Amino acid sequence: MRRAGPPVPTPGAHRGTPGYAIMSTVGRLPGGGLAKGLAVTLRTMTRRTITRQYPEVQPDLPPRSRGVIALFEENCTVCMLCARECPDWCIYIDSHKETLPAEGGGRARSRNVLDRFAIDFSLCMYCGICVEVCPFDALFWSPEFEYAEYDIAELTHEKERLREWMWTVPPPQAHDPSGEPPKEIAAAEKAAARGRKT
Ligand code: SF4
Ligand code: SF4
Repeated sequence: MRRAGPPVPTPGAHRGTPGYAIMSTVGRLPGGGLAKGLAVTLRTMTRRTITRQYPEVQPDLPPRSRGVIALFEENCTVCMLCARECPDWCIYIDSHKETLPAEGGGRARSRNVLDRFAIDFSLCMYCGICVEVCPFDALFWSPEFEYAEYDIAELTHEKERLREWMWTVPPPQAHDPSGEPPKEIAAAEKAAARGRKT
């Protein structure tokens, strides 16, 4: 026995419109489901297709898309902040201490040397926390996204590969002319003004 149920919504026919009433009536007739399906096919046939022809045509992504994380190794001080804040624990950092010889009677200085920096993109959830918290501008978003692998282990990108992504990082957006000048420029202008006075 066929049970009466609520009319099945049809794409393009909204409740309360004449189209919705007609399609609901048609849907209850014998063979009505087929007629409804054909009506939907005919309607969509005349519409412009929105299928993206990827990979023949590359998607036009916004410049700040989160594709992959790039590492600018020279800026990394091995402070470990990114690894500590990462909610997925997918940043692996190894380092050792190096002692620099004393110069001009001063004390010997020690510094951290980065041995390993890797991100496991099979665990990463692209939250961007690591990029946000890095105090030394060593991590950046690149819009590149074509790095799928057959082997999940290959999704752990070591520092050499993370460094390579730096070439794909878009330049920063232009400064808003009505905004405050960047702190670095203001400090440089102040120093230059002091130099002109002396
Ligand atoms: S984007 Fe988020 S999940 Fe991915 S490495 Fe950075 S902090 Fe971790
Ligand atoms: S937060 Fe930045 S500087 Fe610190 S370890 Fe991570 S990438 Fe390096």
